[in-house]
Amino acid sequence: MIHKHGNKVLQLTLAVIKPDAVAHPLISEAVHEKILSNRLLIIRSKILNWTRSDSQNFYTEHSGRFFYQRLVEFMSSGPLRAYILAHEDAIKLWRDLMGPTKVFRARYTMPESIRGLYGLTDTRNTTHGSDSVESAKREMAFFFPEFSVSSWYEQEEPHFRLGP
Ligand code: UDP
Repeated sequence: MIHKHGNKVLQLTLAVIKPDAVAHPLISEAVHEKILSNRLLIIRSKILNWTRSDSQNFYTEHSGRFFYQRLVEFMSSGPLRAYILAHEDAIKLWRDLMGPTKVFRARYTMPESIRGLYGLTDTRNTTHGSDSVESAKREMAFFFPEFSVSSWYEQEEPHFRLGP
């Protein structure tokens, strides 16, 4: 998932603003602003709603965990905002910006992170981000089935400019 960009290299990741934050326009705006101010390029974005079965399929690796039902209900409870983001270190940068999964840990160890600032509970924790190159590939296909990395790179990438 790495493409040369002039002498730079861009990595793609999948980011999601979860229903707790999409429900509050000023919070989703603040998260969006974090994306822009950290020089993550927005390659695609969309607002969508998940059915319960989308939610079950996406989080299938967590089936059997104590929080699974709650997570499935929550993620299909309202609109999501999904992004494909590009940056030299997109996967790690976005996960660092999100902060820890658990809300108290986020609040007390990374208070300026997205989850530290806006997370409500361990489930309603504002954002999702792919955790590896493999999961980024799978998750981009899940949210943006029409997106082809190679066509994007060939047709659109030359028009992108990186800031100073
Ligand atoms: N989750 C939860 N309770 C927990 C751990 C996770 O409700 O104790 C939810 C939470 O919404 C989290 C998602 O399950 O974002 C996926 O968990 P994962 O461990 O993959 O964390 P992430 O990669 O999102 O930080």
